[in-house]
Amino acid sequence: MKPTHIEHIGIAVRSLQEAIPFYESLLGTPCYSIEEVPDQKVKTAFFRIGETKIELLESTSPDGPIGKFIERRGQGLHHVALAVENVSDALNEINEQGIRTIDAAPRSGAEGHSIAFIHPQSAFGVLTELCGKL
Ligand code: ZN
Repeated sequence: MKPTHIEHIGIAVRSLQEAIPFYESLLGTPCYSIEEVPDQKVKTAFFRIGETKIELLESTSPDGPIGKFIERRGQGLHHVALAVENVSDALNEINEQGIRTIDAAPRSGAEGHSIAFIHPQSAFGVLTELCGKL
């Protein structure tokens, strides 16, 4: 597996409405997309910074992964997403290496991407997402 770049960095926030103006000002660029991802019980907001994006995540349900994360640890850095050509191939490769993943198969993420997560316990405490077109 050879990721091409950091696709995005995911940040858990309580309120997109509050966080978006801050990031628009910080990055000097408008939020270009707000999208709900029902599979993950989140609403996302995206900003471009070079080839990488910032993804803000607001929970749509207290029992969703972001709702639980904020409950336990507060707002903040949630995950790092690596851009790969083919998420399915990358998952197979990773599983062969004995690296623990959260997802056995790719699922649907924001922006029409396929995504899968590597377990933070296998990645030195960092929830790591694989993100690609396939
Ligand atoms: Zn993500």
